[in-house]
Amino acid sequence: MKTINIAIDGPAGAGKSTIAKMVSARLGYIYVDTGALYRTVALYITENNIADEDIEKSLADADVSLRFVDGAQRVFLGDRDVSELIRTPAISMAASRTSAIPAVRAYLFETQQKIARENNIIMDGRDIGTVVLPNADVKIFLTASAEERANRRYKELAEKPDCPPYEEILKDIIQRDYQDMHREIAPLRQAEDAVLVDTTKLSLEESAEAIIRVIESKTG
Ligand code: C5P
Repeated sequence: MKTINIAIDGPAGAGKSTIAKMVSARLGYIYVDTGALYRTVALYITENNIADEDIEKSLADADVSLRFVDGAQRVFLGDRDVSELIRTPAISMAASRTSAIPAVRAYLFETQQKIARENNIIMDGRDIGTVVLPNADVKIFLTASAEERANRRYKELAEKPDCPPYEEILKDIIQRDYQDMHREIAPLRQAEDAVLVDTTKLSLEESAEAIIRVIESKTG
């Protein structure tokens, strides 16, 4: 059976995961967050203090996997569910750095393609429309201004005790954008056949609506 694949790419903090979750719930598709896979690899490398030159061979033992619990994606290192542990600023930065290593991208490539072959999915990341699923039925490039993205992240973190200042969040976002867009392998960029959705002035609900309209117009 041919599955339907929807690729959503864009920079950090554009709202990809929240919006993709809303849209997949409405369409009854599986939502796949590929950033979580890169974060899990980064956690593995960090916890085990693996030097860059040893990453390729050590990945054979990493045992990173995706599982779905009550329809929600969880990421595992071996038998350990690390879905919460990977959500720290340090792991965000480590993932941005280690995801530029070709062996890391090669390691996660088949995991991503396999799930897309077997299910109707909405997959979000940086290179889904350009590299992982070049034949996706629908491709969306979701973005927002860096200031607006920093603003949203700041509001999200504001309740937490060690919330970094706004300026630091903005600096991290700009640095991650730069790293993700300028790496040699699979850089973040809009695929030629992707539809641009800018959420700077849109609410989450409006953004989800905009994406559903694009999907409906492409899949009939
Ligand atoms: O999406 P998220 O911010 O969780 O991703 C963490 C990091 O993983 C990104 O900054 C990016 O460097 C990397 N990534 C990637 N390719 C993807 C998804 C994420 O390189 N498809």
